[in-house]
Amino acid sequence: MNFPSSLLNPVHPIGRQIAESIVLHKKVSYKEAKKTGGQRQRIGIARALALQPKLIVCDEPVSALDVSIQAQILNLLKEIQKDMGLSYLFIAHGIQAVKHISDKIAVMYLGRIAELAEKEALFENPHHPYTKALLSAVPLPNPKLRDRERIILKGDLPSPANPPTGCRFHTRCPVAMEKCKSLDPSLIQTSKNTITACLLFEDEGSTENKMIM
Ligand code: SF4
Repeated sequence: MNFPSSLLNPVHPIGRQIAESIVLHKKVSYKEAKKTGGQRQRIGIARALALQPKLIVCDEPVSALDVSIQAQILNLLKEIQKDMGLSYLFIAHGIQAVKHISDKIAVMYLGRIAELAEKEALFENPHHPYTKALLSAVPLPNPKLRDRERIILKGDLPSPANPPTGCRFHTRCPVAMEKCKSLDPSLIQTSKNTITACLLFEDEGSTENKMIM
């Protein structure tokens, strides 16, 4: 599809020009147009694809968008992935977006991987206490699972610049043990499709596994 060059103003950013057309035609505010447009994301994707990459890092690509536009962008990413056979490193806080697009998921806490698993394994049987707390807050369509216990974490997120000693999650972990204050857990295989960094799995049954909270 060809557009005349006069259609775009070379002195204004393209995102602003697209938002302006939404403001004019849909009678919404400029802020609202930017939020509902999703066009910036599409332009970002087009720019990335121009280099024919094998891997694209998508850093919070849909977090500022309305839910319906989020779904459009995620579906577009999936279609492109199928057509071009590329991989994404998708970074997001929104667990539903992560679930929609991912095959494997790494749950991060204070800059470290707490758990890395195939998507189905992570959602059906999370291992790390932080993953369990995260998923306990996600609304589920299955009525049998809706009554599950919500795990509320205590305290604020510590500063990543000055993380706690031992396991970084120990100040908020509902099942923390004394040794978690000093020992830094390594990632270990905890099932066929999951690796987890938690001392609970390093020596299950040990008498040292004494809870502190
Ligand atoms: S190592 Fe200890 S504090 Fe860290 S997640 Fe496991 S139980 Fe909780």
